[in-house]
Amino acid sequence: MLIFFGAPGAGKGTQAKIVSKKLNIPHISTGDILREAIRKKTDLGMAAKDIMDKGNLVPDELMGELIARVLLDKRCSKGFILDGFPRTLNQAHILQPILEHISKSKPLIINLVIDDEIIIKRLSQRRECSACGNIVNLNYLADATKCPVCGSRNTFIKRKDDEEEVIKNRLDVFHTTTEPVLDFYRKQVKINNIDASLSVEEITAKILDVVS
Ligand code: AMP
Repeated sequence: MLIFFGAPGAGKGTQAKIVSKKLNIPHISTGDILREAIRKKTDLGMAAKDIMDKGNLVPDELMGELIARVLLDKRCSKGFILDGFPRTLNQAHILQPILEHISKSKPLIINLVIDDEIIIKRLSQRRECSACGNIVNLNYLADATKCPVCGSRNTFIKRKDDEEEVIKNRLDVFHTTTEPVLDFYRKQVKINNIDASLSVEEITAKILDVVS
C-alpha cells in the first residue's frame, strides 16, 4: 500500500498513474472519483460539486463511506496507491482500521514536497479533458488542442478549482488541515520526502527506488 501526499499540483496524480502501471496495482484518486460522480450527476457528485469548486474539503463522513467501499473491493486486495486520501486527521483515523483489515504491513508514505509559488504557476497551465477526464499540463503537450488519452480535439477546460483564488484556498486548506496528517503517520512509519520540482521521470525513479 502506498499513500501519496503533497499539495495540490505537486504531481501526485501524474506519478500515481505511472507507478500504478509499473507496479500493476490500482490508483485510487478520491479527486478523480468525485469528478466522475459530478459528471454522472450522482448524489455524491451533487453533494460535492460546490464544495470542490470552492477548493474546500468534502465532509469526512462522505469520504469515509467512499474510501471504505473502494478499498474493500477485491481489486484492491493486492495493494493500491492512495492519491488524495487521507486529507484530514479524522480521515486518517477512519482509514487506519481499513488498512489493518486489508494488510498486515504498514503503508509506504511518499511525500511530494514543493513550493507554493511553483504550484500556482503549474496549476495555471493545467487543463482537464471534458470528454474523458484526463488531466494535462499545456506546457508539456506536443499538440495543445488534442487529448493524448482519448484523442478528442479542443476539449480542454480549466478546472474551476484551478482558478488562482481557488488554488490559494486549496493551498491554505492543505497547509492547515492536510499537512498535520503527516505527523500522524510520522509516529508510525518513515516519511519518504521527494523533491517534486524535479522532472516527472526523476520523481518516478525516486519513488520506485523507495518502493524497492
Ligand atoms: P484532487 O484532485 O485530489 O486535488 O481533489 C480535488 C478536490 O476534491 C479537493 O479540492 C476536494 O474538494 C475534493 N477531495 C478530494 N479528495 C478529498 C478528500 N480526501 N477529502 C475531502 N475532499 C476531497
